[in-house]
Amino acid sequence: MDRKSTPHYTEAQLAEKDRQELMGIISAQNRRIAELERNAESDPLTGLLHKTAAIDKARKFLGGEGKNGFHAVILADIDNFKGINDSRGHLFGDKVITRFASLLKTTLNEKNCIIGRAGGDEFFILMKNCMLSDVLSRTGQLRSELGKLCSSGGCGFVSCSLGVSCFPSDSRDLNVLYEYADRALYRSKDDGKNRCTVYDSSMGKHYL
Ligand code: GH3
Ligand code: MG
Repeated sequence: MDRKSTPHYTEAQLAEKDRQELMGIISAQNRRIAELERNAESDPLTGLLHKTAAIDKARKFLGGEGKNGFHAVILADIDNFKGINDSRGHLFGDKVITRFASLLKTTLNEKNCIIGRAGGDEFFILMKNCMLSDVLSRTGQLRSELGKLCSSGGCGFVSCSLGVSCFPSDSRDLNVLYEYADRALYRSKDDGKNRCTVYDSSMGKHYL
């Protein structure tokens, strides 16, 4: 062997090379673990959190960092979505769900929210540290952008309905807040859809 071309490492240099190689392997493994954890929490169609992960994060937030703040639970559901599936096909329906998920992130300000797909065409949002006026202006923007996006994107007119409940004034318990937001959402549907309704006690109390 040509001695000149053989690199000569001291013991210390060899140990440093081994250490760097090991660090590379560990950080690749950590990236892979983080990716697996993200995938385990995600809804595959939209990339949003799935329902259990979103509720879990919201519960932790309300019981910890957010316990002294004002927050809103929002449920959003696409109107007449079965009709979209029936008239344009399931794949087209998937596209509408994906677009709606992206709009939720941009119009509701993703950084200030926990957003999850609650199932089908329904979405759960915890908007952190907000006043009711913020919620109403952002959900109004969401409805207006959805109308524009879908008519310009060839989906025809698509709208959504929303229900809102407030922490801590309606309850401090996330199960109760979810149920109240659901009642408000169904009031929106009953009142003609394409609107946002805020829960009030006339919609009934939680008795469990
Ligand atoms: P409403 O206006 O009262 O909300 O009625 P709707 O027609 O939107 O119907 P609803 O919200 O009750 O049902 C949602 C439908 O979404 C039912 C199901 O067939 C369909 N669906 C659920 N998951 C998916 C999905 O991943 N992709 C598609 N394309 N459709 C889905
Ligand atoms: Mg629907």
